[in-house]
Amino acid sequence: MPGRGPIRTTTFTAAFIVATCAMTGCGGGSDKPAQSGSATPPTATATATPSASATETAPQGFQSQIKRVTAADLKYSWRKGCPVAPSGLRMIEMTYWGMDDKTHPGGKLVVNARAARDLVKVFKRLYDIRYPIRRMEPVDVYKGSDFDSIEADNTSAFNCRNATGSTSFSQHAYGLAVDINTCENPYVYADGRVAHKDCVKYKNRKSRAPGVIHAGDKVVKAFASIGWGWGGEWSGAKDYQHFSSSGR
Ligand SMILES: [Zn+2]
Repeated sequence: MPGRGPIRTTTFTAAFIVATCAMTGCGGGSDKPAQSGSATPPTATATATPSASATETAPQGFQSQIKRVTAADLKYSWRKGCPVAPSGLRMIEMTYWGMDDKTHPGGKLVVNARAARDLVKVFKRLYDIRYPIRRMEPVDVYKGSDFDSIEADNTSAFNCRNATGSTSFSQHAYGLAVDINTCENPYVYADGRVAHKDCVKYKNRKSRAPGVIHAGDKVVKAFASIGWGWGGEWSGAKDYQHFSSSGR
């Protein structure tokens, strides 16, 4: 039964660092979050420059916490009969690098408990290479609508729904698939159709626009490092936003 093991979380580490910062003032008076234990140390600029604007623009380190979720947190994305219970899911709260070339501390991704720690590693890699992400919100923000989440160019994972054009559960229903920058990386039907008109231009996979994923690039490699496959490699319909543990 998945998700019955002890919760592995960085909460303690983060709490410890916050406490340490409270004593030593390592936040430098900024309202930015403290650096996490896994992050690179604060830069000389961040600590030595008293100006608020310099502190604001200094790159912040990646931080993450893995938290438990309940059915109440997944009001629209989970229901009875879904293949994984809320106890088998986790909310990763993490920093992501934005399309505005700034750090964003408030990313939220609901995933399978078994995959949470691996996915933190992947997203830390994406952060470290400054791969930009438009937004990262649970699909519950979109009342569970996959269409609306995609339309908003949202990066998300868990959603208890069927696979596109299928009557069986999607890997998203297990929290074992992630969709990234859904407009820049559209689902392209076998006949070439893209359901979101503003995203049709991204059928051109030679595009070098920010967020566009290419075969063999660092994003594909980051997921491959945990054994996850990419929908851009499917034959027929291609799902350029989609990474999953099963490769489907
Ligand atoms: Zn997907």
